Amino acid sequence: MKFAFFKGEIVPFEQATVSIMTHAFNYGTGCFEGIRGYWNEDQQQMYILKLKEHYQRLLSSAKALRIKINFSIPELINITKELVRKNGYQQDVYIRPLAYKSEAKIGLGLHNIADDFAIFLAPFGEYLDISKGIKVCLSKYRRIASHAMPLGAKLTGTYFNSSLAKAEALDRGFVEAITLSHKGNVAEGSGENIFMVKKGVLYTPPLSDDILPGITRLAVMELACRELELNAYEKSIKPSALFTADELFFTGTGAQISPITQVEKKKIGKGKVGPITKQLQAIYFRAVRGENPKYKKWLASVY
Ligand code: PMP
Repeated sequence: MKFAFFKGEIVPFEQATVSIMTHAFNYGTGCFEGIRGYWNEDQQQMYILKLKEHYQRLLSSAKALRIKINFSIPELINITKELVRKNGYQQDVYIRPLAYKSEAKIGLGLHNIADDFAIFLAPFGEYLDISKGIKVCLSKYRRIASHAMPLGAKLTGTYFNSSLAKAEALDRGFVEAITLSHKGNVAEGSGENIFMVKKGVLYTPPLSDDILPGITRLAVMELACRELELNAYEKSIKPSALFTADELFFTGTGAQISPITQVEKKKIGKGKVGPITKQLQAIYFRAVRGENPKYKKWLASVY
């Protein structure tokens, strides 16, 4: 049997259901996180990546919705580990904590509306291809501007914008879309941050270009600097600059490090996964699976 955390306790997954009148379901008044658990077969261990950082971001997202989560970060970490243990998967998982306006109530606003917190998880493999590279389009949808939503918050409602961009990509025969900021700079993918490699230097858009402050983004910048001694800068990227990049890749909890080998009709670099992307992937996957003691601090062990 599978389990979820719902209304303050671990319950059978089927019991974790909400009314169709739920405020968050009607108005998008929720926030969430996506967290990966990596199963290490040799060590018979499940490592949850950057668990504390994800809960820090969830608490700040919840603040934007005026939701007070009644658990401290250490408590949230313990609940998550217990839930993962109870589900007993021996494979990679995706963990989804949610804080949402749970009251069955008609009417907008954020005041005096009851809220709740829940967690579920599911087995999860690759979200985007990580081995041969993907083809992406430039979306006609601009990413919701940071002055139209609280900067840095991972809010349910804003994912309609992301879903439009992703659907447009699939309609046009691409795998993913790059969205631009309200200023017309490159922002990110529909659910991942973007990096450009040019002459051995890494560039990624700054928060002021309407991006979600990705946790993987920071992890990859750290690895690039420390392990490959590469410079990594936050810098606005003009869409035209993408076409002259040596390498491009997405980063995200789901995407991990996903190479981009084509934008619209143009091949990037040699049209293959580039050497820096490959090196970063190798280092990243060892780190997240608990194979590099230096980065064990990124991981929460479940067992
Ligand atoms: N941007 C968006 C819109 C996202 O949904 C995600 C995934 N949470 C990311 C970027 C990447 O963030 P992270 O590395 O923290 O998963």
